[in-house]
Amino acid sequence: MLEDKKPAKTSLDELGEFALIEQFAKSATVALPSTLHGIGDDAAVLNHEGKTVVSTDMLVEGIHFDLGYMPLKHLGYKAVVVNLSDIYAMGAQATQILVSVAVSNRFTLEAMEELYAGIHLACKTYGVDLVGGDTTSSRQGLQLSVTAVGSAAEAAPVLRSGAADKELLVVTGDLGAAYMGLQVLAREQDVFKANPNHKPDLEPYTFLVERQLKPEARKDIVELLQALEVTPTSMIDISDGLASEVMHLCQKSDVGCRIYEDKIPLDPQLISVCEEFNVDSTTIALSGGEDYELLFTIKQEDFDKIKGNPNLTVIGHMTEKSDGANLVTRGDEVIPLKAQGWKAF
Ligand code: ADP
Ligand code: MG
Repeated sequence: MLEDKKPAKTSLDELGEFALIEQFAKSATVALPSTLHGIGDDAAVLNHEGKTVVSTDMLVEGIHFDLGYMPLKHLGYKAVVVNLSDIYAMGAQATQILVSVAVSNRFTLEAMEELYAGIHLACKTYGVDLVGGDTTSSRQGLQLSVTAVGSAAEAAPVLRSGAADKELLVVTGDLGAAYMGLQVLAREQDVFKANPNHKPDLEPYTFLVERQLKPEARKDIVELLQALEVTPTSMIDISDGLASEVMHLCQKSDVGCRIYEDKIPLDPQLISVCEEFNVDSTTIALSGGEDYELLFTIKQEDFDKIKGNPNLTVIGHMTEKSDGANLVTRGDEVIPLKAQGWKAF
């Protein structure tokens, strides 16, 4: 996990907007040939071959994150990663980001530096340039908006609408861990409120907590699929839980689907924590959220190319639209999927 420094206290009022922007810009490095001009002018200048993909996401304190258990450095990292995930879900490579922050005077310069340390780390990890943003004050709390730009030069962008009947449904990694990580953190926070001397032992939950606090986006899968010469027919990233994402694919592609419960990839730690919390692990995988894995469809003839790859699991197949979107349970029951999603509201 990311280490936090001990905070000193420089108020943002003293510092002023320009000095703050300067701080943000200071460690932003421009590495890509497609970034002609980064921070410092009225607009950044980019030079992409082929198609450009763009996506944006907004994070609001108290709605999307709780600084009670989310350190600022992790927040900065995660805010970037969730946006990059949307670019990878188009089968594209992420290249640049813009970051806008609205911040109240409750925050110090040092706190903002923590936030930006996470942002810069994510840029470095994923090879993207921070090329601009906006900075303003807010009456209350912290709001963050990240815009990610990517390039789909090599292949056409992969849309949600390209799935067809009988194609295979594939998911990367494993599901449900980020959601249970949040449950663990929330429980520890409640215990801490009741007893501030309580020292949380998160050791048995490291994997889940890390999946919540420091999620990663599947840049590697875009590269892997290119190397395997597999072009997904449709793709989406899993931010709101498997059920709601697969239903997006079905809706946009005019097909139905069958997901087999026994095929859904679950980490052993997730299974044991679900037992501890007395919740059903399939439900968590279907309706949890924030996994940032990729869900995509491939043609049957591509199966041999992905077979046995530890990153990829075939969890079902697409059907005719009239069949609807269904889960086939371990007991061979066919039940319609419900998309509860992970609602911020
Ligand atoms: P303008 O008044 O034209 O919006 P700003 O003073 O807001 O210009 O920004 C100056 C430069 O700093 C621009 O290149 C802008 O993209 C960049 N910038 C401003 N805020 C941020 C931020 N929070 N993160 C990264 N870059 C920023
Ligand atoms: Mg501005």
